[in-house]
Amino acid sequence: MVSSTVEFSERAANVFLHVLTRCNLRCRHCYINPAQHGRTRLPIGRIERWLEVFAARSPGANLVLLGGEPTLHPDLPRAVRRARSLGFGSITIDTNGYLFHDILEQVTPAEVDVFSFSLDGAAAATNDRIRGRGSFDACLNGIRRSRAKGFRTSLITTVSRANLHELPAMGALLEAAGVESFFIQVLGLRGKAAVAGGDSGAPEMERVPAAEWRAQVPAAAEAIARRGIRVIYPRVFLEPGEPFACAGRVADNYFAFPNGRVYRCPLCEDFPLHSLAFEGDRLAERPRLNEKDLFRLEIAEGCVMHALIQPGPRPFEGLPVQRIGCCLLKREVPPA
Ligand code: SF4
Ligand code: SF4
Repeated sequence: MVSSTVEFSERAANVFLHVLTRCNLRCRHCYINPAQHGRTRLPIGRIERWLEVFAARSPGANLVLLGGEPTLHPDLPRAVRRARSLGFGSITIDTNGYLFHDILEQVTPAEVDVFSFSLDGAAAATNDRIRGRGSFDACLNGIRRSRAKGFRTSLITTVSRANLHELPAMGALLEAAGVESFFIQVLGLRGKAAVAGGDSGAPEMERVPAAEWRAQVPAAAEAIARRGIRVIYPRVFLEPGEPFACAGRVADNYFAFPNGRVYRCPLCEDFPLHSLAFEGDRLAERPRLNEKDLFRLEIAEGCVMHALIQPGPRPFEGLPVQRIGCCLLKREVPPA
């Protein structure tokens, strides 16, 4: 099995459209920040017009509909159908598994390419400590129901020190659930995690140091792929000499929020640094300074937002600089 780094592609555009920010769960690491992203639910007419803007700007883009919990939006099926008619390359719905508004009855596998679930532990106790009581069972139940309806499913786990030890055990769970692809995410200090890790005095949900990440994540990914599951994980910690690239400079990604903010980099989302904004239904460039000015900076640490990812003592305190890769740079391990 040969793993490979998935380079950014100028041709592969990705649109992440947050149709609302409301959610039934209160995950400890939730990156949604109502002060920055708003509390509104996008009306369906506006969703459709924004989809038209993205479809015209980046034809064939991959679309991810997310929230909050996007299935809380009663018009999600209509958004899916409009996206399909506009020619998006793929359509994914990110969900915590509760699948509100009978979504599985309202859309078909011909309309939705993948339901992507979120689970943060192989044991209910671990996951529920992070995502809330009952969320483990709800997620697995949602996967079962989706598969019974013929939908393809993937699963996302945000890795922190609270669940790193359970990564190897995820393989059996994913295999039993029939999940086709497994996405590992790295915990960053944004949203609730930023508040906890900042000045509030609340304990941070502990990001994983480089040595632990290197020792555990790639090996776990390889083992899970041997079960016939495609695994994708972020590079995070670059090796000496390994090239650095910022997706904000070379890729075509959009992270759009109900208040009209559109970012090119997810790590910038806690700040009013968005480089684009919907003004009504027109997508406009924002004046400087914004995230694009950050993407241009060449710094020894690699990613200019590295402090959100990198735990422990900062460089320049007598320690060698650990370069942080772009969080959008992934390694893919194909299924065995
Ligand atoms: S399910 Fe997603 S949107 Fe909801 S609280 Fe958890 S991380 Fe946030
Ligand atoms: S995560 Fe860092 S490297 Fe990637 S787009 Fe954002 S600023 Fe650039």
